[in-house]
Amino acid sequence: MGHLTTTPGHWIAGTIMDDQVHTVCSSGMPLDYNGMPSPAEMFGITTSFDVFGGAPTAHVFSDIGRGCIYDCIFCSERISVVGPPRQFKISPHRLCGQLAAARRVVKADYGENFPVSAFIEDSTLLGWNSALVAQFEKVFDPLENPVRLGGQATIDQIVNNPALARRLGRMGLEYLFIGVETPRPELVGGLHKNIATKKGSWMERGDKAVEILSEAGIKVGVSLLFGMGEGAAERQQLFSALESWRKTGSLITISMNWAVQHPLRNTVQGNEYTYLDWAVSPGPMLSLLRNFGESSEIYPIAGGTSPDEASVKDILQATTEIMAMPPAHPMQKQEADHVPGRGVA
Ligand code: SF4
Repeated sequence: MGHLTTTPGHWIAGTIMDDQVHTVCSSGMPLDYNGMPSPAEMFGITTSFDVFGGAPTAHVFSDIGRGCIYDCIFCSERISVVGPPRQFKISPHRLCGQLAAARRVVKADYGENFPVSAFIEDSTLLGWNSALVAQFEKVFDPLENPVRLGGQATIDQIVNNPALARRLGRMGLEYLFIGVETPRPELVGGLHKNIATKKGSWMERGDKAVEILSEAGIKVGVSLLFGMGEGAAERQQLFSALESWRKTGSLITISMNWAVQHPLRNTVQGNEYTYLDWAVSPGPMLSLLRNFGESSEIYPIAGGTSPDEASVKDILQATTEIMAMPPAHPMQKQEADHVPGRGVA
């Protein structure tokens, strides 16, 4: 098997010969991501995000990086754990190719005129970078290839470059998932995406970002993160903001998470866990925490807290009430279910 070692990628292959297990490891040659087939073509498109009104949703990426450059301390996508950007300059071409593939798959599997949607899995969509978006505008024609697009960006990326929201809106972006996490990041620490501190408080910038997206015709999903030492007052501050965003018709989904320390390739993070027990025990918390994207009773982050029944019930009640508020647009009722979005940009 030794001749396989130059096959690109990081892998281990094994076989049994003469009752013995033989293994071989790759030499770690880099993959050419442009040569990879798209996930839509490999696996088909069988599900749909509620926010896209039933259009089959492809998972696509420009793949500018495995990890997110902001490197927030609590995040499993951070660059210090999963690695730096790759083949950065041609990412718009790769994204365009994946969207074209998604259209081909939907056309073949659902019919000629079936609507297509795609969630762009980049930690932040094309890095929210003007040059990359300009390239994307050159290579992707939304009239020829209409795809309902969703993606992720940080609050400060949107506030610092609002023009990109309008430009991406014209390219078909209609949904953006943003990580609000906590109303007072300065109390928590490690929220490195909190960069535009001179432009107002975190929640003021959140208001601004939602306003910018609303003007660009882009709906918003938010990711919340509890268990980082916040109290009832901070929680209430968060819910007040969500309520106002919901009232404007911008907010269409909420993802709740309770901060968990991940194993993350043995990166030292503070708490020494062996991760041998189930994260949530059978009992009342199991059914409550099913409503959370990420949570654990026994693996809180360093300096954080484990979820308690009263707080979790309080969060569920508040978010349910917010999402039940009268939609500003008739479509919104249908779109208001939970959790389209992967990371916590
Ligand atoms: S929380 Fe968001 S901005 Fe921070 S590292 Fe994770 S994906 Fe990036």
